[in-house]
Amino acid sequence: MRLIDHFLAGGAGAASARHGDVFDPNTGRVQARVALAGGEVLDRAVASAQAAQPGWAATNPQRRARVLFRFKQLLEANMEELARLLASEHGKVVDDAKGDIQRGLEVVEFCCGIPHALKGEYTQGAGPGIDVYSMRQPVGIGAGITPFNFPAMIPMWMFAPAIACGNAFILKPSERDPSVPVRLAELMREAGLPDGILQVVHGDKEMVDAILDHPAIAAVSFVGSSDIAHYVYQRGVAAGKRVQAMGGAKNHGIVMPDADLDQVVADLSGAAFGSAGERCMALPVVVPVGERTADALRERLVSAIGRLRVGVSTDAEAQYGPVVTAQHKARIEQWIQTGIDEGAELVVDGRGFRLQGHEDGYFLAPSLFDRVTPQMRSYQEEIFGPVLQIVRAPDFESALKLPSEHQYGNGVAIFTRNGHAAREFAARVNVGMIGINVPIPVPVAYHSFGGWKRSGFGDTNQYGMEGVRFWTKVKTITQRWPDGGSTGDSAFVIPTMG
Ligand code: NAD
Repeated sequence: MRLIDHFLAGGAGAASARHGDVFDPNTGRVQARVALAGGEVLDRAVASAQAAQPGWAATNPQRRARVLFRFKQLLEANMEELARLLASEHGKVVDDAKGDIQRGLEVVEFCCGIPHALKGEYTQGAGPGIDVYSMRQPVGIGAGITPFNFPAMIPMWMFAPAIACGNAFILKPSERDPSVPVRLAELMREAGLPDGILQVVHGDKEMVDAILDHPAIAAVSFVGSSDIAHYVYQRGVAAGKRVQAMGGAKNHGIVMPDADLDQVVADLSGAAFGSAGERCMALPVVVPVGERTADALRERLVSAIGRLRVGVSTDAEAQYGPVVTAQHKARIEQWIQTGIDEGAELVVDGRGFRLQGHEDGYFLAPSLFDRVTPQMRSYQEEIFGPVLQIVRAPDFESALKLPSEHQYGNGVAIFTRNGHAAREFAARVNVGMIGINVPIPVPVAYHSFGGWKRSGFGDTNQYGMEGVRFWTKVKTITQRWPDGGSTGDSAFVIPTMG
């Protein structure tokens, strides 16, 4: 059986005592085993990172950018192979896997402009003969801990800016689909990255704890579920690190009575069920405003859901594939049962779906609930599956309150033709990323990504200039070059610029 090993400096892995199974969600069969390690393997990675990082930081930013340019070309050249490998471990359809890689590639493109982003600031004549300038220097060694649902994009959100800024980076990807992260590291080496600057270590909680406690790791970026994000944030900060930790989500789509319902249904179908709902920017809750909007929307959703095709990842006609593991499938089914028990109306039941020839795959057909209320646990918690919940709201103010008061605050969308309502909504809603007639408002690579409340711990977003800020420290220099000899004056009060 194929063994997925760590990617340490020079490419040589390390013997691991523990291993985990990597499944093919399309068949339910184990297709590979992944090494699971802890402190010892991490120590090796850190030692290599420490040896390599000063030289990389001293490499001028234009040369560092050139490695990223070559990496981008390699990603494009290997897109098909990477997407198929990704789909075979994650379960998303191949075209969606290409989107996963493409969104990471766009962050790499942004990082090709790193010389401009690192230019710093300068003030001439801040005082008599005094100039002040600031520079951004790498934090040193950074680490990233990533979830299963975007095994290409999220590692690239982190390692592209970290490395462009002159850091060494250690990636701990999800143990459920670890092959693509290793391929990305191989391609970075092929692009000319020195050994030790990007390494991949595999593991579970044991490795995560080793990273959080390691004194040589200066900054940790995490993306995953909220309880673990909170844990990572607290433990990392207690160890004196800079930490950003993105968590779970429950994004709402508000549908105003004047919205174009055909377009809304098309948008919702993709945003709620694409990737089997396993996206932190999925739209699993729809909030129609007014009973007439709700009834019309429900009718159209039922008919659109009936036309969706669930299939294996390689089925070019399928809209989405299986969920990631048998345990996750069981968990989603449990949430559907909870919704029924809580009194929500199950309009379309996706349980019990079996794909012919793939009866052991982890497939779920789409489910639709109506008359879900904010008191229900199935509304309050993240389901992370192909389940869409309708929560009816009588008016704009009540609709605005729902996402604003929810424990998660990742993304939200409003569908309307009324510019005033949209503007008011965007200004007042208590959520980090807003779509106006855009169902999945993942910001482009030169803006930045981050949710509020329990969707994000720490104060810096992912990628864009926020990524550059996270992976660098600011150093500020105040300089004076006196003309001639010393005045001999001492100052006993705090210096001011008068
Ligand atoms: P997860 O929290 O189970 O795992 C994330 C990472 O944490 C993995 O690398 C895993 O090995 C590690 N981990 C797991 N258990 C741990 C423990 N007890 N202690 C320390 N580390 C542990 O998340 P997942 O199931 O892989 O991904 C899905 C979740 O990620 C969803 O909640 C989704 O909303 C969230 N997510 C958030 C964003 C965002 O940007 N906000 C993006 C993608 C996914």
